Amino acid sequence: MLLIFSPRFEEHTTPPGHPERPERARVFANVVARWQDKGLEVVEPRAATRDELARVHDVAYVDGIAATAGRAVMLDPDTFTSPESHEIALLAAGAAVQAMEHALDRREPAFALVRPPGHHAEQTRAMGFCLFNNIAVAAAAAVARGLSRVAIVDIDVHHGNGTQWMFYDDPRVLYVSTHQFPFYPGTGAADEVGRGPGKGYTMNVPLAAGAIDAVYDMAYKTIVARLDEYAPELLLVSAGYDAHADDPLASMRVSTDGYGMIVRHLKGVADRHCPIALVTEGGYDLDALAQCLDVTIALF
Ligand SMILES: [Zn+2]
Repeated sequence: MLLIFSPRFEEHTTPPGHPERPERARVFANVVARWQDKGLEVVEPRAATRDELARVHDVAYVDGIAATAGRAVMLDPDTFTSPESHEIALLAAGAAVQAMEHALDRREPAFALVRPPGHHAEQTRAMGFCLFNNIAVAAAAAVARGLSRVAIVDIDVHHGNGTQWMFYDDPRVLYVSTHQFPFYPGTGAADEVGRGPGKGYTMNVPLAAGAIDAVYDMAYKTIVARLDEYAPELLLVSAGYDAHADDPLASMRVSTDGYGMIVRHLKGVADRHCPIALVTEGGYDLDALAQCLDVTIALF
């Protein structure tokens, strides 16, 4: 597995007490250093281009985020920039594209360990700690390369509203999410299934608060069946670890081994069908985040 990471991900700073904090990048750095010592290849990301971003975001939005460069701005009640954030967000989206490219070109798994996260960012709106929608930028780049069956599986405890809406009417991207429901951001009901030609290509599996590993195991058996039927040409994973029992934001009870089980289900799909690339999302307990990253990387 290739790891894509930059120590610069620490430079995007948020107000004191904010859960999406620079220390998360230090967790990434420690995990990456350990796996590098064990022989894994690590590369630094490049910045996403304006054209890559404009496949999923309005150009005016891309320019609006660019205009925050050098400034600290509140974009929504949860989402902030620091002077470096625009540059770092470009690196996060670029890392996701690179992970996708590596997976397809080298037929080897890739994992982009990035912040800020991306899955709440919408076409025209930053929200939920997210500036650019990293995984969506990667999926759109894969479609631009000619792929017509790209699956995104979002294992973060929150519903990835941004990713869902970006591909809601597009059958070339199957979006699948498990998430605590009802919960932030409020979307992700089971009857949100896609629209027009995209109908049937959004699959939401809302789960009640308190779900344990066994609940997730059942959910992922159903999801794997849908993915096997779809037969993806590429599997992208929004790797959020905030369904962990120790996470301070959500109320799920997934163990570290439970996260291993979830990723094992998805690796099985990849083994049967296609290359796989993972991109981090949430995960706000630093120890749980480190442990879950380790069990994920160990599976590849
Ligand atoms: Zn989350």
